[in-house]
Amino acid sequence: MKCLRCKGEMNDKYTTFMTEPDGSIVIAKNMPTQVCEQCGEESYSAEVAEQLERIVNASRSVIAEIVVVNYSKNVA
Ligand SMILES: [Zn+2]
Repeated sequence: MKCLRCKGEMNDKYTTFMTEPDGSIVIAKNMPTQVCEQCGEESYSAEVAEQLERIVNASRSVIAEIVVVNYSKNVA
């Protein structure tokens, strides 16, 4: 896979992703990500994005304000 911005090589990495749905903070660790070695552009597959949304929705019923999820553990 090539970077959409600079056509550099994209490498598989695990990164930490943060999102703030409805004022809560959700931190997802170990997200499988493609990172460009040249410009640092990050991209997630649609499947990963969907899984994350599912994890976040499941967590939100029990959270107060901050959630830290381990993406790899929740999907595996
Ligand atoms: Zn790039």
